[in-house]
Amino acid sequence: MPTVYLWLTGFVLLMALATFATTLRKATPYGRHLEGQSVRTLPSRLAWLIFASPEWFAFVGTFVWFANEPSVTQWLLLGLWQLHYTHRAILYPLRMRGHASGFPLSGVIFGFIFNCLNGYINAFAVTHAAHLTADWLADPRFVIGAALAAFGWVVNFQSDSILIGLRADGSTGYKVPHGGMFRYVSAANYFGEIVMWCGWALMCWTYAGAVFAIFTIANLAPRALSHHRWYLSRFPDYPKARKALIPYVL
Ligand code: NDP
Repeated sequence: MPTVYLWLTGFVLLMALATFATTLRKATPYGRHLEGQSVRTLPSRLAWLIFASPEWFAFVGTFVWFANEPSVTQWLLLGLWQLHYTHRAILYPLRMRGHASGFPLSGVIFGFIFNCLNGYINAFAVTHAAHLTADWLADPRFVIGAALAAFGWVVNFQSDSILIGLRADGSTGYKVPHGGMFRYVSAANYFGEIVMWCGWALMCWTYAGAVFAIFTIANLAPRALSHHRWYLSRFPDYPKARKALIPYVL
């Protein structure tokens, strides 16, 4: 594997460790964790569009640049990635009813850089992985990984939709979410996201896929704990049996 790819993948792993260490102590200041803070912000929808879209163009650009007669498996992975990020970078921001005070500019810059790197390394890995031939579609790692990714995506989409629905009346505050995986955990959308990227890592079987799954856990697990503590402190009647992130466990 070329050196630049390995260095960048190692750098993203370091970003994951740094993110975990900092967000365990203090939640990244956006959404509810921005309350009471005075920072420069952008409107939430514009912010999501700017920082999430590099995953879309960095992946497709890298794929087109490096792919040499791609296999059906490589085409499929490209299609799945692009479908997900068409949703995350364009459709989700259009659907969301975001925080009235917007999204911090510092988070937009960090997210933009991270997503450029991550889109690049994942596409590089997919285009250079010798095992991603048509036969890989029958490999147990692909089959189990694809099933996990599909399950995670559905849980994430359903959970985000429940949250969006809480502000269907035009309000901008917070309510207790119910239904779907929220029956079991406070951060049901994060649970789905983590399962989805663990599935992606398994179905691609690349360093970059594994590092992105690690980053997602490092980023979202501490945030799920912060959300859970916040709900418990804000709502006296919050369901006591509900966990933060992993049903019955954490
Ligand atoms: P949150 O759950 O914090 O918020 C999602 C949206 O729902 C926001 O618009 C939020 O508003 C609103 N919301 C949340 N809780 C409530 C509530 N109780 N009542 C009313 N509205 C609520 O998720 P994130 O914004 O952190 O993430 C959004 C999506 O992006 C998720 O699917 C997540 O998995 C994904 N993501 C993936 C990452 C990765 O590393 N792969 C990193 C970050 C996000 P407000 O903004 O006002 O809080």
